[in-house]
Amino acid sequence: MSSFEIIDPAFGSFVLHNAPVKKLAEGFDWAEGPVWFGDMNCLLFSDIPNNRILCWSEAGLTTFRQPANFANGHTRDRQGRLISCEHGLRRVTRTEWDGSITVIADGYQGKPLNSPNDVIVARDGAIWFTDPHYGIVTDYEGFKAEAELPCSVYRVDPSGSIEAVITDMACPNGLAFSPDESLLYVADTGRAFSSDPQHILAFDMASGRPRNGRLFHRIDPGCADGIRVDSDGNLWSSAADGVHCIAPDGHLMGKILVPEVVSNICFGGRAKHRLFITATTGLYAVVLNRRGVQWP
Ligand code: MG
Repeated sequence: MSSFEIIDPAFGSFVLHNAPVKKLAEGFDWAEGPVWFGDMNCLLFSDIPNNRILCWSEAGLTTFRQPANFANGHTRDRQGRLISCEHGLRRVTRTEWDGSITVIADGYQGKPLNSPNDVIVARDGAIWFTDPHYGIVTDYEGFKAEAELPCSVYRVDPSGSIEAVITDMACPNGLAFSPDESLLYVADTGRAFSSDPQHILAFDMASGRPRNGRLFHRIDPGCADGIRVDSDGNLWSSAADGVHCIAPDGHLMGKILVPEVVSNICFGGRAKHRLFITATTGLYAVVLNRRGVQWP
C-alpha cells in the first residue's frame, strides 16, 4: 500500500515513491516537539507524559533531559540555541551553550502562563509561542491547575518584553511563518474534551503583528497540532491519519499516511528534505522532494 495519498496531481512530485515512511523509534506515550540539530546530526523531541526529551540519531536513541518539566514544543533561535516550551513550570526557556537555562517567559501581566505548547523564532529574533491549557487541564502532561489567562499567542521581543498578540482563538497550538514572514499560520486544536473544530488560521503580518485572522484550512481528520512550511510556501500539518500538505491557497494537496495520530513534524536531514514525524508512540521520517524553511 502506498504511504501517500495524492489529491492534487502536483503533490505527486513532492513525494518520492521509493522513499519509505520509516519508523525510527517507538515506546513513547505522546511524542511531540521535534527539532532538528544539523550540526549534531540529531533530532530532539519530547515524550511529554514521560517527562523527558529524547535525542534520536542514526546511532540510536538516547535521553537528552529527564525530568524535563514536561517539555512540549521546541525550536532553535537564530544563534542555534534550544528554545523549549515547558508545561511543568508553565514557561518558555532557552538552553544556553553552557547548558544553563534562561527563562524567556513564565507569566503575563502578573499571572502564570497556562502551558506553553509550541514555539518559533522570527527573523528579527522575536520568540513566538502558543499557550493553550492542555498541560494543566489534567495531570497527564503536567500538573493540573486552573488557567488564569486566556489561551493566547505571545510574542517576546528580543528586548525581553512580552505581548499577547492573538487572544481570540480557542486553543492555539502549532505555529509557522510563511517563507517571507508575510503570513503567520496558527493551528487551533480547540478545547480539550470538546468538539471544537480543528483548523489552521492565517494572519497577515503588518508592522510585525498578526492581523486579519481567517480560516486557512480545516484539518479532517484532526488533529491540527504541529505545522511547518516548505520553501515554496506549502503548509504541512499533523493530522489524525498522518501529515497533510496544504497549498498556499488553502487546498489539500495530499497526505503522508502514518499509522498513528501525528502530533508534530519538522524538516531536517542534510538538505532539510527529510520530514520527521512525532506520532503518539512512534517517531517516523520520510524523505521528500521538498525543503523546509524553518530556522536553522
Ligand atoms: Mg503542539
